Amino acid sequence: MKVTEKQQVTLPRTNELGFYEMRLEAVGGLGANLAGQVLAQSLVLGQGLNGAHFSSYGSEKKGSPVKSFVRVCAPDKEVRSSSPVERPHLLGVFHHCLLPVEGTTAGLYPDSVIVVNSPDSVEEVADRGRIGSGTLAVVDALLISVQENTRINTAMLGAIVRASGFIDPQVVREGIDASFREKYPKLVEPNLKTFDRGYNEVKIWTFTGSGSFKPKPFQRYVPQLGYANAPMGGIITNPGNTAHKDLSASRQGIFPIYHRHLCIDCGLCTQTCPDYVFVWEKGLDKNGKPAMVMKGPNYQYCKGCLKCVEICPVAALTMECERPEFRFTGDVQLWGPPDALVTMSRNNEPAKWGQEEGYYWRRVS
Ligand code: SF4
Ligand code: SF4
Repeated sequence: MKVTEKQQVTLPRTNELGFYEMRLEAVGGLGANLAGQVLAQSLVLGQGLNGAHFSSYGSEKKGSPVKSFVRVCAPDKEVRSSSPVERPHLLGVFHHCLLPVEGTTAGLYPDSVIVVNSPDSVEEVADRGRIGSGTLAVVDALLISVQENTRINTAMLGAIVRASGFIDPQVVREGIDASFREKYPKLVEPNLKTFDRGYNEVKIWTFTGSGSFKPKPFQRYVPQLGYANAPMGGIITNPGNTAHKDLSASRQGIFPIYHRHLCIDCGLCTQTCPDYVFVWEKGLDKNGKPAMVMKGPNYQYCKGCLKCVEICPVAALTMECERPEFRFTGDVQLWGPPDALVTMSRNNEPAKWGQEEGYYWRRVS
Protein backbone atom coordinates (compact mmCIF):
# COMPACT_ATOMS: atom_id res chain seq x y z
CA MET A 1 0.00 0.00 0.00
CA LYS A 2 1.28 3.46 -0.84
CA VAL A 3 0.62 6.07 1.84
CA THR A 4 -0.77 9.28 0.41
CA GLU A 5 -0.46 12.63 2.15
CA LYS A 6 -4.18 12.51 2.85
CA GLN A 7 -3.89 9.15 4.58
CA GLN A 8 -0.94 10.14 6.78
CA VAL A 9 -2.42 10.41 10.25
CA THR A 10 -1.67 12.14 13.52
CA LEU A 11 -2.51 10.07 16.58
CA PRO A 12 -5.28 11.58 18.75
CA ARG A 13 -3.42 10.85 22.00
CA THR A 14 -0.37 8.91 23.11
CA ASN A 15 1.15 7.69 26.36
CA GLU A 16 4.35 8.96 27.90
CA LEU A 17 6.38 6.78 25.49
CA GLY A 18 4.60 8.18 22.45
CA PHE A 19 2.41 5.11 21.73
CA TYR A 20 -1.30 4.84 20.98
CA GLU A 21 -2.22 1.42 22.35
CA MET A 22 -5.13 -0.92 21.72
CA ARG A 23 -6.13 -4.14 23.47
CA LEU A 24 -8.67 -6.62 22.10
CA GLU A 25 -10.26 -8.93 24.69
CA ALA A 26 -11.82 -12.09 23.28
CA VAL A 27 -12.14 -15.85 23.50
CA GLY A 28 -10.63 -18.30 21.03
CA GLY A 29 -12.57 -18.56 17.79
CA LEU A 30 -13.81 -14.96 17.64
CA GLY A 31 -10.97 -13.82 15.39
CA ALA A 32 -9.37 -11.17 17.63
CA ASN A 33 -5.88 -12.17 16.54
CA LEU A 34 -6.65 -11.57 12.86
CA ALA A 35 -8.48 -8.33 13.69
CA GLY A 36 -5.42 -7.01 15.55
CA GLN A 37 -3.19 -8.05 12.67
CA VAL A 38 -5.36 -6.27 10.09
CA LEU A 39 -5.53 -3.14 12.26
CA ALA A 40 -1.77 -2.97 12.75
CA GLN A 41 -1.00 -3.70 9.10
CA SER A 42 -3.46 -1.06 7.93
CA LEU A 43 -2.08 1.61 10.24
CA VAL A 44 1.54 0.87 9.32
CA LEU A 45 1.23 0.17 5.60
CA GLY A 46 -1.75 2.40 4.85
CA GLN A 47 -1.49 5.31 7.25
CA GLY A 48 2.26 5.73 7.58
CA LEU A 49 2.66 4.93 11.28
CA ASN A 50 5.14 2.65 12.97
CA GLY A 51 3.58 -0.18 14.92
CA ALA A 52 3.57 -3.68 16.29
CA HIS A 53 0.97 -6.38 16.90
CA PHE A 54 1.00 -9.61 18.85
CA SER A 55 -1.50 -11.79 20.65
CA SER A 56 -1.54 -13.84 23.77
CA TYR A 57 -3.64 -16.99 24.02
CA GLY A 58 -3.76 -20.11 26.11
CA SER A 59 -4.36 -23.58 24.77
CA GLU A 60 -5.21 -23.75 21.08
CA LYS A 61 -8.94 -24.25 21.35
CA LYS A 62 -12.18 -22.39 21.08
CA GLY A 63 -13.23 -20.74 24.28
CA SER A 64 -9.85 -20.03 25.85
CA PRO A 65 -9.02 -16.38 26.66
CA VAL A 66 -7.34 -14.35 23.91
CA LYS A 67 -5.81 -10.90 24.16
CA SER A 68 -4.57 -9.12 21.06
CA PHE A 69 -2.36 -6.04 21.36
CA VAL A 70 -1.72 -3.25 18.85
CA ARG A 71 0.77 -0.48 19.51
CA VAL A 72 1.36 2.36 17.03
CA CYS A 73 3.47 5.51 17.06
CA ALA A 74 4.73 8.30 14.80
CA PRO A 75 6.79 7.11 11.80
CA ASP A 76 10.00 8.70 13.08
CA LYS A 77 9.84 6.69 16.32
CA GLU A 78 11.00 3.12 16.85
CA VAL A 79 8.87 0.47 18.53
CA ARG A 80 11.11 -1.04 21.14
CA SER A 81 8.45 -2.52 23.41
CA SER A 82 6.76 -5.89 23.05
CA SER A 83 5.09 -5.99 26.45
CA PRO A 84 1.31 -6.47 26.78
CA VAL A 85 -0.81 -3.34 26.55
CA GLU A 86 -1.66 -2.56 30.17
CA ARG A 87 -3.25 0.86 29.62
CA PRO A 88 -5.27 0.82 26.38
CA HIS A 89 -6.44 4.00 24.65
CA LEU A 90 -8.88 1.73 22.82
CA LEU A 91 -10.32 -1.48 24.24
CA GLY A 92 -12.26 -3.94 22.04
CA VAL A 93 -14.43 -6.45 23.94
CA PHE A 94 -15.46 -9.21 21.52
CA HIS A 95 -18.03 -10.80 23.83
CA HIS A 96 -20.10 -8.83 26.33
CA CYS A 97 -19.96 -11.72 28.85
CA LEU A 98 -16.28 -10.79 29.26
CA LEU A 99 -17.14 -7.36 30.70
CA PRO A 100 -17.49 -8.50 34.32
CA VAL A 101 -14.48 -10.83 34.04
CA GLU A 102 -11.57 -9.65 36.16
CA GLY A 103 -9.01 -7.78 34.10
CA THR A 104 -11.11 -7.10 30.99
CA THR A 105 -11.49 -3.38 31.64
CA ALA A 106 -8.28 -3.03 33.64
CA GLY A 107 -5.99 -0.11 32.97
CA LEU A 108 -8.41 2.14 31.06
CA TYR A 109 -7.85 5.88 30.97
CA PRO A 110 -10.85 8.05 31.90
CA ASP A 111 -11.12 9.00 28.19
CA SER A 112 -10.43 5.59 26.64
CA VAL A 113 -12.63 4.29 23.81
CA ILE A 114 -14.38 0.99 24.60
CA VAL A 115 -15.98 -1.00 21.78
CA VAL A 116 -18.23 -3.89 22.88
CA ASN A 117 -19.97 -6.61 20.88
CA SER A 118 -23.40 -6.82 22.47
CA PRO A 119 -27.07 -6.98 21.46
CA ASP A 120 -27.92 -4.76 24.44
CA SER A 121 -28.36 -1.00 24.54
CA VAL A 122 -25.43 1.31 25.22
CA GLU A 123 -26.92 2.14 28.65
CA GLU A 124 -27.18 -1.54 29.62
CA VAL A 125 -23.62 -2.25 28.51
CA ALA A 126 -22.35 0.80 30.41
CA ASP A 127 -24.16 -0.42 33.48
CA ARG A 128 -22.87 -4.00 33.23
CA GLY A 129 -19.30 -2.92 32.57
CA ARG A 130 -19.49 -0.14 35.20
CA ILE A 131 -18.32 2.27 32.53
CA GLY A 132 -18.95 5.87 33.50
CA SER A 133 -16.39 7.81 31.55
CA GLY A 134 -14.78 7.87 28.12
CA THR A 135 -16.43 6.77 24.91
CA LEU A 136 -18.51 3.59 24.71
CA ALA A 137 -19.36 2.05 21.35
CA VAL A 138 -21.74 -0.91 21.13
CA VAL A 139 -22.32 -3.04 18.05
CA ASP A 140 -24.32 -6.23 17.60
CA ALA A 141 -21.45 -7.92 15.78
CA LEU A 142 -22.83 -11.41 16.32
CA LEU A 143 -26.12 -10.60 14.60
CA ILE A 144 -24.29 -9.00 11.68
CA SER A 145 -21.92 -11.95 11.27
CA VAL A 146 -24.73 -14.52 11.48
CA GLN A 147 -26.67 -12.61 8.82
CA GLU A 148 -23.63 -12.24 6.56
CA ASN A 149 -22.30 -15.74 7.26
CA THR A 150 -18.94 -14.40 8.45
CA ARG A 151 -17.21 -14.05 11.80
CA ILE A 152 -17.63 -11.21 14.24
CA ASN A 153 -14.09 -9.91 13.87
CA THR A 154 -14.71 -7.86 10.73
CA ALA A 155 -17.88 -6.34 12.23
CA MET A 156 -15.85 -5.42 15.31
CA LEU A 157 -13.16 -3.94 13.05
CA GLY A 158 -15.78 -1.68 11.43
CA ALA A 159 -16.99 -0.51 14.85
CA ILE A 160 -13.43 0.00 16.16
CA VAL A 161 -12.45 2.05 13.11
CA ARG A 162 -15.51 4.31 13.46
CA ALA A 163 -15.14 4.71 17.25
CA SER A 164 -11.39 5.42 17.04
CA GLY A 165 -11.99 8.60 15.06
CA PHE A 166 -8.65 8.46 13.24
CA ILE A 167 -8.38 5.13 11.40
CA ASP A 168 -9.18 5.38 7.70
CA PRO A 169 -11.95 2.85 6.87
CA GLN A 170 -10.78 2.52 3.27
CA VAL A 171 -7.30 1.51 4.40
CA VAL A 172 -8.73 -1.19 6.68
CA ARG A 173 -11.04 -2.41 3.88
CA GLU A 174 -7.92 -2.86 1.76
CA GLY A 175 -6.29 -4.71 4.66
CA ILE A 176 -9.26 -7.10 4.91
CA ASP A 177 -9.17 -7.63 1.16
CA ALA A 178 -5.44 -8.44 1.30
CA SER A 179 -5.92 -10.88 4.21
CA PHE A 180 -8.61 -12.96 2.50
CA ARG A 181 -7.92 -12.50 -1.23
CA GLU A 182 -5.24 -15.11 -1.70
CA LYS A 183 -6.50 -18.01 0.42
CA TYR A 184 -10.26 -17.39 0.65
CA PRO A 185 -11.32 -15.15 -2.25
CA LYS A 186 -14.99 -16.01 -1.74
CA LEU A 187 -14.86 -14.52 1.76
CA VAL A 188 -13.67 -11.07 0.64
CA GLU A 189 -17.04 -9.58 -0.28
CA PRO A 190 -19.01 -10.95 2.74
CA ASN A 191 -16.29 -9.70 5.09
CA LEU A 192 -16.18 -6.26 3.49
CA LYS A 193 -19.96 -6.08 3.86
CA THR A 194 -19.65 -7.19 7.50
CA PHE A 195 -17.03 -4.47 8.06
CA ASP A 196 -19.27 -1.80 6.49
CA ARG A 197 -22.23 -2.88 8.61
CA GLY A 198 -20.12 -2.79 11.78
CA TYR A 199 -18.96 0.71 10.80
CA ASN A 200 -22.47 1.97 10.06
CA GLU A 201 -24.44 0.18 12.79
CA VAL A 202 -22.24 0.88 15.82
CA LYS A 203 -23.84 3.12 18.45
CA ILE A 204 -21.42 5.51 20.10
CA TRP A 205 -21.95 7.25 23.42
CA THR A 206 -19.51 9.69 24.96
CA PHE A 207 -19.77 10.24 28.69
CA THR A 208 -19.58 13.85 29.67
CA GLY A 209 -20.47 13.58 33.38
CA SER A 210 -18.07 12.56 36.09
CA GLY A 211 -19.45 9.00 36.12
CA SER A 212 -18.77 6.34 38.70
CA PHE A 213 -16.13 4.44 36.76
CA LYS A 214 -12.70 4.28 38.29
CA PRO A 215 -10.13 2.63 36.02
CA LYS A 216 -8.67 -0.44 37.65
CA PRO A 217 -4.90 -0.68 37.59
CA PHE A 218 -3.53 -3.52 35.49
CA GLN A 219 -2.28 -6.22 37.82
CA ARG A 220 0.25 -8.78 36.76
CA TYR A 221 -0.51 -12.32 37.81
CA VAL A 222 1.60 -13.24 40.81
CA PRO A 223 1.57 -16.93 41.88
CA GLN A 224 0.55 -17.30 45.51
CA LEU A 225 2.98 -20.15 46.03
CA GLY A 226 6.65 -20.14 45.08
CA TYR A 227 9.92 -21.75 46.08
CA ALA A 228 9.90 -19.86 49.39
CA ASN A 229 6.44 -20.82 50.65
CA ALA A 230 5.28 -23.97 48.77
CA PRO A 231 4.21 -26.84 51.12
CA MET A 232 6.67 -29.69 51.54
CA GLY A 233 6.33 -32.34 48.84
CA GLY A 234 4.20 -30.07 46.67
CA ILE A 235 1.04 -31.07 48.56
CA ILE A 236 -2.06 -29.28 47.33
CA THR A 237 -3.85 -28.29 50.51
CA ASN A 238 -6.81 -26.63 48.81
CA PRO A 239 -7.71 -28.54 45.65
CA GLY A 240 -10.61 -26.27 44.72
CA ASN A 241 -13.94 -27.33 43.29
CA THR A 242 -15.01 -27.30 39.65
CA ALA A 243 -18.61 -26.89 40.79
CA HIS A 244 -17.98 -23.16 40.67
CA LYS A 245 -16.60 -23.24 37.14
CA ASP A 246 -18.58 -20.98 34.82
CA LEU A 247 -18.00 -21.54 31.12
CA SER A 248 -20.71 -19.17 29.92
CA ALA A 249 -18.14 -16.55 28.88
CA SER A 250 -16.58 -19.14 26.54
CA ARG A 251 -19.67 -19.21 24.37
CA GLN A 252 -19.49 -17.20 21.19
CA GLY A 253 -23.09 -16.04 21.31
CA ILE A 254 -24.67 -19.31 20.21
CA PHE A 255 -25.89 -22.13 22.39
CA PRO A 256 -28.17 -25.19 22.33
CA ILE A 257 -31.83 -24.89 23.27
CA TYR A 258 -33.50 -28.04 24.58
CA HIS A 259 -36.99 -29.06 23.42
CA ARG A 260 -38.30 -31.57 25.95
CA HIS A 261 -41.36 -32.58 23.88
CA LEU A 262 -39.07 -33.89 21.08
CA CYS A 263 -36.50 -35.65 23.26
CA ILE A 264 -36.44 -39.47 23.26
CA ASP A 265 -33.94 -39.69 26.16
CA CYS A 266 -31.43 -41.56 24.03
CA GLY A 267 -28.47 -40.02 25.87
CA LEU A 268 -26.36 -39.33 22.77
CA CYS A 269 -25.97 -35.67 23.71
CA THR A 270 -24.66 -36.63 27.15
CA GLN A 271 -22.12 -39.02 25.64
CA THR A 272 -21.00 -36.35 23.19
CA CYS A 273 -20.86 -33.28 25.40
CA PRO A 274 -17.26 -32.66 26.51
CA ASP A 275 -18.33 -30.79 29.63
CA TYR A 276 -21.03 -32.99 31.22
CA VAL A 277 -23.62 -30.25 30.80
CA PHE A 278 -26.76 -32.36 30.71
CA VAL A 279 -28.78 -33.05 33.84
CA TRP A 280 -30.80 -36.25 34.23
CA GLU A 281 -33.38 -37.21 36.82
CA LYS A 282 -35.58 -40.15 37.73
CA GLY A 283 -38.86 -40.11 35.83
CA LEU A 284 -41.05 -42.13 33.48
CA ASP A 285 -40.30 -43.08 29.91
CA LYS A 286 -42.80 -42.77 27.03
CA ASN A 287 -44.40 -46.07 28.10
CA GLY A 288 -44.83 -44.92 31.67
CA LYS A 289 -42.04 -47.13 33.02
CA PRO A 290 -39.52 -45.77 35.55
CA ALA A 291 -36.44 -44.46 33.74
CA MET A 292 -33.87 -41.71 33.82
CA VAL A 293 -35.09 -38.76 31.78
CA MET A 294 -33.23 -35.74 30.52
CA LYS A 295 -33.95 -32.53 32.38
CA GLY A 296 -31.96 -30.19 30.16
CA PRO A 297 -28.59 -28.47 29.89
CA ASN A 298 -26.99 -26.76 32.86
CA TYR A 299 -25.79 -23.68 30.99
CA GLN A 300 -23.20 -22.77 33.55
CA TYR A 301 -20.95 -25.46 32.10
CA CYS A 302 -21.88 -25.11 28.41
CA LYS A 303 -19.19 -23.59 26.19
CA GLY A 304 -21.39 -23.54 23.08
CA CYS A 305 -19.50 -26.03 20.91
CA LEU A 306 -22.84 -27.36 19.59
CA LYS A 307 -21.65 -30.97 19.30
CA CYS A 308 -24.87 -31.98 21.07
CA VAL A 309 -26.97 -30.23 18.41
CA GLU A 310 -25.16 -32.15 15.67
CA ILE A 311 -25.58 -35.53 17.37
CA CYS A 312 -29.21 -35.29 18.48
CA PRO A 313 -31.18 -37.62 16.15
CA VAL A 314 -34.56 -35.90 16.61
CA ALA A 315 -33.66 -32.18 16.66
CA ALA A 316 -34.54 -31.92 20.36
CA LEU A 317 -31.55 -29.58 20.61
CA THR A 318 -31.32 -26.62 18.25
CA MET A 319 -28.76 -23.88 17.78
CA GLU A 320 -29.92 -20.44 18.86
CA CYS A 321 -28.29 -17.06 19.29
CA GLU A 322 -28.06 -15.88 22.89
CA ARG A 323 -30.30 -12.93 22.31
CA PRO A 324 -32.17 -10.81 24.88
CA GLU A 325 -35.40 -12.66 24.07
CA PHE A 326 -33.91 -15.68 25.82
CA ARG A 327 -34.15 -14.96 29.46
CA PHE A 328 -32.64 -17.11 32.12
CA THR A 329 -35.56 -18.44 34.10
CA GLY A 330 -34.47 -21.26 36.33
CA ASP A 331 -31.92 -21.95 38.96
CA VAL A 332 -29.04 -24.28 38.48
CA GLN A 333 -28.10 -27.09 40.76
CA LEU A 334 -24.40 -27.70 41.03
CA TRP A 335 -23.31 -31.24 41.71
CA GLY A 336 -20.44 -32.54 43.76
CA PRO A 337 -19.51 -34.93 46.57
CA PRO A 338 -22.07 -34.87 49.45
CA ASP A 339 -20.10 -32.52 51.66
CA ALA A 340 -19.46 -30.14 48.80
CA LEU A 341 -22.96 -30.26 47.32
CA VAL A 342 -24.09 -26.72 46.86
CA THR A 343 -27.23 -25.33 45.45
CA MET A 344 -27.02 -21.90 44.01
CA SER A 345 -28.27 -19.87 41.14
CA ARG A 346 -26.29 -18.83 38.10
CA ASN A 347 -24.94 -15.68 39.72
CA ASN A 348 -23.78 -17.64 42.77
CA GLU A 349 -26.61 -16.48 45.00
CA PRO A 350 -28.66 -18.98 46.98
CA ALA A 351 -31.10 -20.72 44.68
CA LYS A 352 -34.80 -20.02 44.88
CA TRP A 353 -36.35 -23.39 44.28
CA GLY A 354 -39.91 -23.86 43.18
CA GLN A 355 -39.52 -21.73 40.08
CA GLU A 356 -40.47 -22.92 36.65
CA GLU A 357 -39.89 -26.54 35.89
CA GLY A 358 -38.47 -27.69 32.61
CA TYR A 359 -36.26 -25.45 30.57
CA TYR A 360 -33.60 -23.35 32.12
CA TRP A 361 -34.15 -20.87 29.36
CA ARG A 362 -37.38 -19.99 27.69
CA ARG A 363 -38.18 -17.82 24.75
CA VAL A 364 -39.87 -14.65 25.92
CA SER A 365 -42.36 -13.33 23.40
S1 SF4 B 1 -22.93 -26.97 23.18
FE1 SF4 B 1 -23.73 -28.96 23.74
S2 SF4 B 1 -21.99 -30.35 23.60
FE2 SF4 B 1 -21.14 -28.29 23.62
S3 SF4 B 1 -20.72 -27.84 25.78
FE3 SF4 B 1 -22.78 -27.08 25.40
S4 SF4 B 1 -24.17 -28.73 25.93
FE4 SF4 B 1 -22.08 -29.64 25.73
S1 SF4 C 1 -29.55 -36.57 21.92
FE1 SF4 C 1 -31.48 -35.46 21.66
S2 SF4 C 1 -33.06 -37.02 21.94
FE2 SF4 C 1 -31.16 -37.90 22.76
S3 SF4 C 1 -31.26 -37.38 24.98
FE3 SF4 C 1 -30.11 -35.73 23.95
S4 SF4 C 1 -31.68 -34.18 23.50
FE4 SF4 C 1 -32.77 -36.08 23.94
